[in-house]
Amino acid sequence: MAKLHRVTHRFVERVPSPLEDGVVYVSIEFGTVIHKCCCGCGDKVVTPLTPVDWAVIYDGQSISLYPSIGRWDSPCRSHYWIRSDCVVWSRTWSKREVDALKRGEGELRDDYFGLDQERPDPEGRGDKPE
Ligand SMILES: [Zn+2]
Repeated sequence: MAKLHRVTHRFVERVPSPLEDGVVYVSIEFGTVIHKCCCGCGDKVVTPLTPVDWAVIYDGQSISLYPSIGRWDSPCRSHYWIRSDCVVWSRTWSKREVDALKRGEGELRDDYFGLDQERPDPEGRGDKPE
């Protein structure tokens, strides 16, 4: 499947399974946004909505997701933004850029949650990765 350049959004209480391609599911109830990677690899991308993770902006017609989706640890290494239901693709970042970004995010989280605290898990599943 080719890279997507547009998505549609759906406000849901619970995210359905399986996910449809090109649909960004927004669950305010669970504070999370889930969609299938826009490169077509089929991976599920979970972007939690918290003050230090992602934010969703709904303008009445379309949604935008901030910051970008960077799938550095996935085989596809996709990097894109979702802006007004459009997928804006970025070039692939170098490892050095990614490391710098991760360091920055780590510091941001430490400031917000305190150094000794675990990040809260909005879905209550413990800290097991997806
Ligand atoms: Zn992908």
